[in-house]
Amino acid sequence: VKENGKDDYMLHSGDMDHVALHKLTIQHEMRKALHNKEFLLYYQPQYDLASGQIVGMEALIRWNHPEKGLVPPGEFIPAAEESGIIVPLGEWVLEEACRQNKEWQEEGMARIPVSVNLSMRQFSERNLTGKVADILNQTGLEPRYLELEITESMTMDVERASQCLKELTDIGVNISIDDFGTGYSSFHYLKNLPIARLKIDRSFVRDIHQDPNDAAIVAAIIAMAHNLQLQVIAEGVETEDQVHFLRSHRCDEMQGYFGSPPLDSEKTQRLLREKHNR
Ligand code: C2E
Ligand code: CA
Ligand code: CA
Ligand code: CA
Repeated sequence: VKENGKDDYMLHSGDMDHVALHKLTIQHEMRKALHNKEFLLYYQPQYDLASGQIVGMEALIRWNHPEKGLVPPGEFIPAAEESGIIVPLGEWVLEEACRQNKEWQEEGMARIPVSVNLSMRQFSERNLTGKVADILNQTGLEPRYLELEITESMTMDVERASQCLKELTDIGVNISIDDFGTGYSSFHYLKNLPIARLKIDRSFVRDIHQDPNDAAIVAAIIAMAHNLQLQVIAEGVETEDQVHFLRSHRCDEMQGYFGSPPLDSEKTQRLLREKHNR
């Protein structure tokens, strides 16, 4: 609403209104989208580097927007985080990933765990473990087929994180540290938190063959993970050379376009069926 006042003030407050309005619009749109079932999950296979077998998959959200088409998570997850909509949205992701995985198992397909990304907001929720347990109960998925991906920043408060992760691992789900190496790294948490594996961030994997520092970092992360009895997976693997490097350094698994891009549920199902019949 326009009122009399100095022009510069008007301009400033107008911009603020615009930003606030834009946020409100996105929030409103996302709530509506959740209600209208416009979100869907893609799955990216994870491969064992020694055998070449698919041993896991990561669930990655997409928004099938009525006008914009398929919208990648980078364009709405930050707004969802900021507004808090990530909490019901993240719960939907968990439920859908567990339901889908259980369904595929029932259809006789290869039994492999699904990894789900957790946001900071979800991780800070009082009753996260209760919600996860409820979803596992409802869907009938065994906890060992669910892996939760958290980032280093979520472990800053070591006391809280260790309490929360202990509860989650007590019910039988696995925890992995996503984008490992990009956040605030403390060896303290690696030693003390109940973590099953590290995911080496793709920024280190990308230039393994051009940048000796990246090669050294990746080799060191793999060695350290193994010394701490953790599994290690490299993300963003795009070339055969990268595969060779990772294999020769005994990295356990890989995920990336070289293996497969994220696939819709139909293509994922087809892939799992092929794997089963091989
Ligand atoms: P992320 O967890 O690091 O997921 C991996 C991202 O790398 C995915 O992007 C995937 O498509 C992309 N990627 C896979 N292979 C390659 C490759 O070989 N090269 C390159 N350059 N990229 C590759 P996507 O699907 O756009 O997801 C982006 C981010 O959005 C994810 O990064 C994750 O942080 C977030 N996200 C996705 N789904 C969810 C969700 O359900 N909940 C939450 N909280 N965040 C999510
Ligand atoms: Ca991830
Ligand atoms: Ca990642
Ligand atoms: Ca990332």
